Amino acid sequence: MKTLIHGGRVIDPADRIDGRLNILIEDGKIAAVSPDDMAADRRVDAAGKVVCPGFVDCHVHEDPVEGGRLYADAEKSVFACMLRMGVTTVVAGNCGGNVCDPGDYLDIVDRDGAFVNVAMLAGHEYFRVLAGAEDNYAPATAEQVKTMTEAIRKSLSRGCAGLSYGIRYDPGINEAELLGTMAALQGTGKPAACHLRDDAKAVFGALAEFLDAAKALGVPAEVSHIGSMAGFGQMEQFLAAVDAYRAGGLDVGCDCYPYSAFCTGLGSATYDDGWLERYNCGYDVLELCEGPYKGQRCTEAIFRQQRAAFPSCRTVCHVMQPEEIDRALRHPAVMLASDATMHLGQGHPRAAGTFPRLIAEYVRPGRLSLYDAVAKMTAMPAARFGLPGKGTLRVGADADVVVFDPDKIKDTATFTDPISPPEGIDLVLINGAEAVRDGRIVSGNLGRSVRT
Ligand SMILES: [Zn+2]
Repeated sequence: MKTLIHGGRVIDPADRIDGRLNILIEDGKIAAVSPDDMAADRRVDAAGKVVCPGFVDCHVHEDPVEGGRLYADAEKSVFACMLRMGVTTVVAGNCGGNVCDPGDYLDIVDRDGAFVNVAMLAGHEYFRVLAGAEDNYAPATAEQVKTMTEAIRKSLSRGCAGLSYGIRYDPGINEAELLGTMAALQGTGKPAACHLRDDAKAVFGALAEFLDAAKALGVPAEVSHIGSMAGFGQMEQFLAAVDAYRAGGLDVGCDCYPYSAFCTGLGSATYDDGWLERYNCGYDVLELCEGPYKGQRCTEAIFRQQRAAFPSCRTVCHVMQPEEIDRALRHPAVMLASDATMHLGQGHPRAAGTFPRLIAEYVRPGRLSLYDAVAKMTAMPAARFGLPGKGTLRVGADADVVVFDPDKIKDTATFTDPISPPEGIDLVLINGAEAVRDGRIVSGNLGRSVRT
């Protein structure tokens, strides 16, 4: 069966393509890209629409596994929200976390299918706990580091696309542990991604800690969700520091989500003593997403009581400066990623809004070109994580395609309705098959593992 998507504006930054072209799909792959008309069994009229590679979200927290199966609620799962945004491939296992063994997770995706294609990072913290270093504030022993490193190596050999750290959440990590575990990546070409140890004024030392280790080992590096690390007045200096490492030969990039609030658990180290001073704010910046105070801003009393009673409660912290997020997203080394995390459909709207929002909030007002935006959503993340056949419409690539209306695409997810689906996305194909039509999921198990 041949499908022709004809008459659209095809944007494929991986091959520097931006023009009116027709895309022929056969056997789940891109068979031809041409200005000529071509014979097909099925034709999709894309006149007035943009046709581009399915979006790649390189910073996602995966849906849980329950009873050996993926959580697959078509409304509330992270992966379903991704698919409705036009994302066809996610890189999960970020910030050091895995919901189960990441190699097993890839196997489950292949056995059952998923809403989207899934690549996994080995999560350092997951293997840290397995190695017996259960106190996240205490250093691991040399023996534990060795155990972690062996397990990480095994995950990489099963196809994990890299290694993630959440140093913020495991302050006990020292240089020996960082270098010891990161050495598992040497010679693989796979990157380390990191949620840095500290943010705001302390972000510079935290950046150096991670990038100096990557540089020492010759490992490519990805600095995660920089808006929530340096979006408090440090962004210009932070990006200059990243540029200096790039100029010095380190292969390093960053990602950012287009919102000026971050989201994390109430019990996390982010809210340890000193956080009000760090962000120069009051308790009222903190919105609780679950429990008896859902949708409300905190007072000191609510904060203290709920942090003790309900430490896993999702929170949204409205503290970043919007102009700092703009500065990050317009920088050439920064790509888009959602940092999606959800619990039963509750959390931050970035999980269901990030990708359409970049076009609605940055491209339409003229702050970013459509071509650059598509690059940040396709070619850049696919290249950073070395995802074969993804992030491009070149002949032979997997036929993961999104067709959207550039004048209508927009996010509708909000902090009170975080899974509200976007508008303006006409068609999403995964491996050549229809996954979304007119904004609705029509097939939820087309996704497969992406192993590197
Ligand atoms: Zn993180």
